[in-house]
Amino acid sequence: MIDLKKADLGLCVVCGEPRRPEALTCYKEDCHEKFVAWCEEKFGTYKKVEGPDGVPHRVPTREIVEKGLRWEDLTNYPEWS
Ligand SMILES: [Zn+2]
Repeated sequence: MIDLKKADLGLCVVCGEPRRPEALTCYKEDCHEKFVAWCEEKFGTYKKVEGPDGVPHRVPTREIVEKGLRWEDLTNYPEWS
């Protein structure tokens, strides 16, 4: 199971091995996919985020996990309708 508390200890939230410094999971693709699936289940496949244009955009949860999200890039995503 996913344990977010492990991240504070520098460990993968899925398997408990040392995690990548820039991510919450380790280098195993399997852990990454499990974490993305968990986030999608928890937050939905898309997340509604208001951008600098004041309009809510439709951002894939996977991209938030994989790339992070820069506020100024939000306008590149389609508007939430
Ligand atoms: Zn792992």
